[in-house]
Amino acid sequence: MKPKISRIAEQLTGSAIVENRRKADLLEAKGISIVDFGVGEPNFQAPACAVEAAIESIKSGQGNYIDPRGLPELRQEIAEMVTRRHSYPVNQENVVVTTGSYGALTIAARTLLDAGDQVLLPEPFWGPYRNIVQLTGAVPVSVPGTAVGAKFVVDPEALRAQITPLTRALVINSPNNPTGRVLAINELHAVAEIALENNLWIISDEVYSELVFDSAKHISIASLSPEVAARCVVVSSLSKSFAMTGWRLGYCIAPPEVAQVIARINHYSVRCPTSFVQYAAVATLRGAWDDVERMRKAYLGRRNLVIERISGLPGVSMDPPQGTFYAFPRIPESWGTGKSFAERLLNEEGVIVSAGDAYGKSASQHFRISFATSEKILREGFDRIDRMTAKLGV
Ligand code: PLP
Repeated sequence: MKPKISRIAEQLTGSAIVENRRKADLLEAKGISIVDFGVGEPNFQAPACAVEAAIESIKSGQGNYIDPRGLPELRQEIAEMVTRRHSYPVNQENVVVTTGSYGALTIAARTLLDAGDQVLLPEPFWGPYRNIVQLTGAVPVSVPGTAVGAKFVVDPEALRAQITPLTRALVINSPNNPTGRVLAINELHAVAEIALENNLWIISDEVYSELVFDSAKHISIASLSPEVAARCVVVSSLSKSFAMTGWRLGYCIAPPEVAQVIARINHYSVRCPTSFVQYAAVATLRGAWDDVERMRKAYLGRRNLVIERISGLPGVSMDPPQGTFYAFPRIPESWGTGKSFAERLLNEEGVIVSAGDAYGKSASQHFRISFATSEKILREGFDRIDRMTAKLGV
């Protein structure tokens, strides 16, 4: 007889994206060419100033443990950046440096939740929220999405309908993965009102905050009022905006007394995020904003290409992405579900997309395209999608 692993760990499901990539690898091994619209990872290099600062930091011996709250200069830089760009007052006492937003979400969940608590996840939502909540013993509660055409909007009544005495928190994500939507101010007010009325924490994932297009403006829910900020934990990272996914540098912004506990949990989870990456992050936040703008413009061009190519698909509708590097089209029912469509697309044309049901049942007619890839690859993938949809008819 073998010792058992934890019941919570046993129930943990794998990632659909990783699963898809494995299937694609098997096809690739058979000589089939694959176009990957699945992975949500920038195809850019990290900014040169980040690379130089990291090398310099290693060379100069900055390889020691750091305060679990994070390097003071970095916390200061993050506080100033958020105050300046997201228009609410943040200081060092609010900031904890984490290992990416995954780390931020994980320790925020462990700080705010007890076993049995319920956490509202408005669909469509990024799948790992469910797993991160489950790992604390709390219960994720999917709130079915309300769509106006192909556009998912915040529905206060749908959120209220899921609230019970056990509800402790809700998670919002704007700009949103998978829809690319940026929540409007009235939607943020509606969420804030529900949180205030029901004494809930708001976990606000703003990892795509710098990637917005046209006239869309990212508004942090924490900027609505000090009362709202007092019940918010904002999470973000350098991964997406600065193309630094593998550097694992994120942060939480929380009320000071909560930030203290978050830092303690950071300590007992990872001790501290990598020291030289923290030094490099200071240089990045000071010097890489031109890089952010260059990449944002490239994503904008790709977003326009995706809109154009999707509009050429008969029967497919889409809310044009206002931010991120994702598009979330809805397919006609005559083509099957988003899942069966994604499977056929991979097997018959070698294109990886993510099926909508990974983001909640109400999104099962959708599929997600990541356009964090070159225009050349986008064109190739869409030529294949055209071939596939021609077979399906309308
Ligand atoms: N939040 C959202 C909505 C994401 O899409 C991702 C990555 O895909 C993350 C958080 C995690 O990012 P990281 O841990 O690299 O900061």
